[in-house]
Amino acid sequence: MEFDRDYKMLIDGKLVAAADDMDVVNPATGKAFTKSPRASESDLNAAVEAAQKAFKSWKSTPIEERRAALKKAGQTLMAQADQLASLFTKEQGRPTAQAKEEILGGGYWLMTVADQEIPVEVTEDSDTRRVEVHRTPLGVVCGIVPWNFPITLACWKIAPALLTGNTLVIKPSPFTPLCTLKMGELFQEIFPPGVFNVISGGDELGPWMTAHPGFAKISFTGSTATGKRVMESASKDLKRVTLELGGNDASIVLPDVDVDKVAEQIFFGAFFNSAQICVATKRLYVHADIYDKMRDRLHAIAQNAPVGDGSDQGNQFGPIQNRAQYERVLNLLDDAKKSGLTVLEGKDVPEEGFFIPLTIVDNPPEDSRVVKEEAFGPILPMMKFDDLDDVIDRANDSEYGLAGAVWSADIEKAASVAARMDTGTVWINQNLQMTPLTPFGGHKQSGLGTENGAEGLSEFTSPKAIFIPKSNASVA
Ligand code: NAD
Repeated sequence: MEFDRDYKMLIDGKLVAAADDMDVVNPATGKAFTKSPRASESDLNAAVEAAQKAFKSWKSTPIEERRAALKKAGQTLMAQADQLASLFTKEQGRPTAQAKEEILGGGYWLMTVADQEIPVEVTEDSDTRRVEVHRTPLGVVCGIVPWNFPITLACWKIAPALLTGNTLVIKPSPFTPLCTLKMGELFQEIFPPGVFNVISGGDELGPWMTAHPGFAKISFTGSTATGKRVMESASKDLKRVTLELGGNDASIVLPDVDVDKVAEQIFFGAFFNSAQICVATKRLYVHADIYDKMRDRLHAIAQNAPVGDGSDQGNQFGPIQNRAQYERVLNLLDDAKKSGLTVLEGKDVPEEGFFIPLTIVDNPPEDSRVVKEEAFGPILPMMKFDDLDDVIDRANDSEYGLAGAVWSADIEKAASVAARMDTGTVWINQNLQMTPLTPFGGHKQSGLGTENGAEGLSEFTSPKAIFIPKSNASVA
């Protein structure tokens, strides 16, 4: 398969071009290197119609067949990991070895979710009747994915939507369409026509999708601002929504940690993927007793961390994924400097492309922009604390509530802090961990609903209660 050109959408089991196309930019150079299809409204209509037609048979296809198709899709994705990884780096920016991990992880996700059970709950089993609650699929699901984890987040939607008997039309970000289009091509023969559709387009396509009456549910991952627009649009015909949105995650580091041991891990949790992760540490609270040592250690790591084109081996951190985000992050950095904050920059970065040095902001005030806003780029504000109750209040003082972390040599103490954090996930002495069987979702304005786990799976279904009498006495 040729991975460098010829990108088509998958609609009704066929690979189709669009009448129009759009540039795809390599963020490491800032230059367009290929084009991807720009779907029209009639392309969208064709995908939804195909998915509606396919739903009629896919929903009653035996679950074992649906499982087998998803497993084959997972294996196929993994088998193409090397080729996809270099394409991933070109469009997304992340170093190739890490890109490969995402592709293998996507395959693992498809295969693991394929084994999940869709339980039938019995709420009553008495002398007179049995009441069963079955889970039925919803119809055609609309999947909308951002640019930071294009394969992972697509797989989080593909696996549960198709396992539960729905059909799917998925849309990658206009900034990272290529790997998802290639996934469409790879899965073309695996799913019956119309079950899995991939369409790519410009900024107009997302709003067209959320307004389209043919969708029963929107599974959206992206920013909180866009999530609110999605919900508003979906409300017109009461589409179901799952919204995975932004975060401003806090990590709290207690004074008993061994700074040299944990600094690398904390650094990774803040800067991996050049900090473009919804669950990255975005506010780092460090106890005053170890603050200076931790700051100096993190700064030293930043000064040695190679940032550059992800296709050059040896670079561990790539560019910001797109120009708009790059300018946003630069603006935040500029604001921090102009406000007189102490800004500690990491190793120099290439001038060409959307690169920003990995940067630590030394003890900024809580009300500064760099603390309050989700940077979604490599600027980490690090703050001092000496009172545990106070720092937990500061960590929770956010409109977001996605994830957080606690670092301590005393696991019990860390667990008691974790219990007080208002977030959907908390890690103790680790970072960025997720599993297909663990529910993931944001509290407060970080989201609505859940992905993954039994709860995530059930969001692709409706409960259907069936009351079954024990005898036919009343009708016989
Ligand atoms: P974004 O909201 O700009 O875009 C996300 C997707 O929505 C893209 O595919 C985009 O084309 C589409 N879109 C844009 N406007 C739309 C509209 N009006 N209607 C429908 N679709 C629309 O987000 P982004 O910049 O691509 O991603 C970064 C954001 O995503 C960050 O805030 C990050 O925290 C968040 N994120 C959250 C999670 C999570 O699981 N909670 C995971 C990854 C990223």
